[in-house]
Amino acid sequence: MFFRKKLIIDSICLDPQCSICGFPSAKIEITNAHSYPNDANSWSWRKLRSYNKYRDFNADYLIYSGPGGGNGAIGDPISIERKKAIIKAFTKPYDFEEIKNQFYDMAGFCIECNKFYCPAHWNVNTNGYGHCPEGHGKSLDPHWSPEME
Ligand SMILES: [Zn+2]
Ligand SMILES: [Zn+2]
Repeated sequence: MFFRKKLIIDSICLDPQCSICGFPSAKIEITNAHSYPNDANSWSWRKLRSYNKYRDFNADYLIYSGPGGGNGAIGDPISIERKKAIIKAFTKPYDFEEIKNQFYDMAGFCIECNKFYCPAHWNVNTNGYGHCPEGHGKSLDPHWSPEME
């Protein structure tokens, strides 16, 4: 056994749920400045070391992973404006324009169904094109460039 100082956790999870299976359709976590993501106390030393090395603790961070891709284990710094916009976009009632403004793959949201689906239920093919369980098609191609500052 070893002792490790408890980390300061201050993180907002906004994961939408797949309306079929309840699994997250995407992982959306905003970690506040000077703190760690929710699961950080269970990380390996190695992961913690790499996080400490690459994280800018003066900034809020977004960790995102959706059907079309993500921004890695550390995430990216985000502005206060973007943080507010993401929280609003992923709080009910959902507005697809707001969701679309945040992530290219819309975190698995189907506009026609007005529902979220996980990557498995989007049946994403190798070209990054998927169909929801109701047959609505959409491109989930991993274009990761949502930072609009
Ligand atoms: Zn599902
Ligand atoms: Zn649909």
